[in-house]
Amino acid sequence: MQQLIDPFGRPIEYVRLSVTDRCDLRCSYCLPRDFTGFEEPEDWLTPAEIERVIAAFGRLGVTRLRLTGGEPLVRKNLPELAARLAALPGIDDLSLSTNATRLDKHAGALMAAGVSRINVSLDSLRADRFKQITRGKLEKVLSGLMAAKAAGFAPIKINMVVMAGVNDDEVVDMVDFCIEHDFTLRFIETMPMGSTGVSASTHYVNLQTVRRQLEQRFDLIPGVMPGGGPARYVRVAGTELRIGFITPISQHFCETCNRVRLSVDGTIYLCLGQDDKLELRPLLRAGATDRDIEQAILAAIARKPERHEFSDKPGQIVRFMSLTGG
Ligand code: SAM
Repeated sequence: MQQLIDPFGRPIEYVRLSVTDRCDLRCSYCLPRDFTGFEEPEDWLTPAEIERVIAAFGRLGVTRLRLTGGEPLVRKNLPELAARLAALPGIDDLSLSTNATRLDKHAGALMAAGVSRINVSLDSLRADRFKQITRGKLEKVLSGLMAAKAAGFAPIKINMVVMAGVNDDEVVDMVDFCIEHDFTLRFIETMPMGSTGVSASTHYVNLQTVRRQLEQRFDLIPGVMPGGGPARYVRVAGTELRIGFITPISQHFCETCNRVRLSVDGTIYLCLGQDDKLELRPLLRAGATDRDIEQAILAAIARKPERHEFSDKPGQIVRFMSLTGG
């Protein structure tokens, strides 16, 4: 079996695919409120092009694929695309990151398509605050979450970006909410991604602080969670709840990086925090063979950087998460 190994000996077996850079929310730390510079539809990879590229990754040893964005459910016919990708040889784990605003409509179809796991962003349980952070409606997210649960997704992981003075007083509420609904919870440190008008450094919270805050209220015991991601987990004693801490800034996990990102315009981004990339769309549209695509992917992986430099060069990255595929 072919394996993709980068120059630092890391096997690359995971692709995060941004199926659109558009989103129906405007999270303050992710996209500037008035952002209009989205990719044009003619530059989006078509479903057939996406399928070709992911099939090539599958032949090269990638086994796990996550659909993300932007908001992936903003892209038309996502369940159909998901079904095509789930059927590709080699791809044995297909997951989705979503803000859940449209999940009530699509959860059943996504499950039928072969999506096996869902992550949902949820930064606040207070409707007014949720609106301030995202410009969206909390009730839509909550009904989407319940629809996902009813459709049989398990585990459902809640991702909360913890921001000082914005939502850091809600971490205990979020734990209680996840215990009540049987969700898994992950806290994420804010990363400086593009200039969103919100200073990541002002709102940055080291998750060690959150952990200490939770320890005052809960008995946290070491835990694990299958899935191969960067979160470090604890369990809340006496409950089924697992809490993951994702700490790209305070304790980066680049040495175990196993992923690359493919954006909607067909660019492979080799690191969330670096500009290294390879554009596949020109190749695809110039009649490349499957072998040419595989060679291009191999050449890209050979250039994967060792690590991000968010802390050393905080202003460096000018891409927004929605483009790269968060
Ligand atoms: N729309 C989907 C969602 O809401 O999950 C997928 C895309 S979103 C960009 C993926 C994740 O990136 C979300 O959990 C979001 O909170 C996170 N994210 C975006 N910008 C971030 C930043 N500057 N720092 C940390 N996490 C960020």
